[in-house]
Amino acid sequence: MLTEKVLEVKSLHKRFKTVHAVNDISFELERGDIFAFLGPNGAGKTTTLRILLDIIKADQGEIQWNLNGEQSKLPESSLIGYLPEERGLYVDLPVLRSLVYLASIRGMDAAKANSAAMEWLERMGLADRAKEKLQTLSKGNQQKVQFIASIVHKPAFAILDEPFSGLDPLNQELFLEYIRELNTQGCTVLLSSHQMQLVEKIARKIFLINHGKELYKGSLSGIYNAFGLQHTLELIFESEVPIETLEKINGAELVSALDSNGAKVVFSAEKKLPEIMKDLSALQGITNIKSQNSSLHDIFLELVKKKS
Ligand code: ATP
Repeated sequence: MLTEKVLEVKSLHKRFKTVHAVNDISFELERGDIFAFLGPNGAGKTTTLRILLDIIKADQGEIQWNLNGEQSKLPESSLIGYLPEERGLYVDLPVLRSLVYLASIRGMDAAKANSAAMEWLERMGLADRAKEKLQTLSKGNQQKVQFIASIVHKPAFAILDEPFSGLDPLNQELFLEYIRELNTQGCTVLLSSHQMQLVEKIARKIFLINHGKELYKGSLSGIYNAFGLQHTLELIFESEVPIETLEKINGAELVSALDSNGAKVVFSAEKKLPEIMKDLSALQGITNIKSQNSSLHDIFLELVKKKS
């Protein structure tokens, strides 16, 4: 399949006094990607995104956009949607007026902007708040309006900085759906988050960042293959768990009883699954085996430990 690079970033650096906030960061996005920057507070995610949009200048590095067949340092605003981490809307303006204004300065016809904004407000259960000032809305509802503002003009590329911020679990799931939908309609998505369990559900490519530096970049499946090698299994027995026998299995690093019939066993990363299955098949009375894969969060912690 032919891929088309829409953003190429090479060796970005940004320092703030004593902090090297972005330290030699390079990555690229292809059209149709959902690419996630993941890292803890202060990792350098927002700073990187702001540099891409020319809100702040990098000290060093190169950025090349190519959204509409023309290379540029910064694409025109109609092509980009940006959800900033801090709310950037006018809190004193009525919600709908704000949305229509923002869409029209990004090149959308006012009547179209009005109907597109109303459609989104309806989907998000906010149609009856359209004439109210933004500041009267709850934090989560303000985030919904902020999200609408970033995508209502149907950008080719959306930069969503912490899109799940302030949302309850139900709305987080809805946002995942909205982002998937935008993506299937052709929008390339670059998002940042520290909520790894949400990003795991949506991103195809990830960039793990810590203290401004790359920990890992590549496909989500690639990181599980490369680092999520430690197998954790939950074993259920028809009678008492043979804890001592489990502890004697070669490569069983940690054995803990769940209850009288169940135990959790963590195997070393070197122990391969076929070998584990062979050892377990020799045990008497197993009725169930459940695999608990390492989560992205576990892998992230492991990588941070290794690097330091
Ligand atoms: P969070 O998840 O908390 O938003 P982040 O990964 O987005 O974190 P950044 O906001 O990019 O992190 O911050 C990276 C580092 O740069 C932090 O140490 C932060 O304090 C510092 N920093 C960011 N902006 C400035 C600024 N304008 N002046 C000084 N230091 C800054």
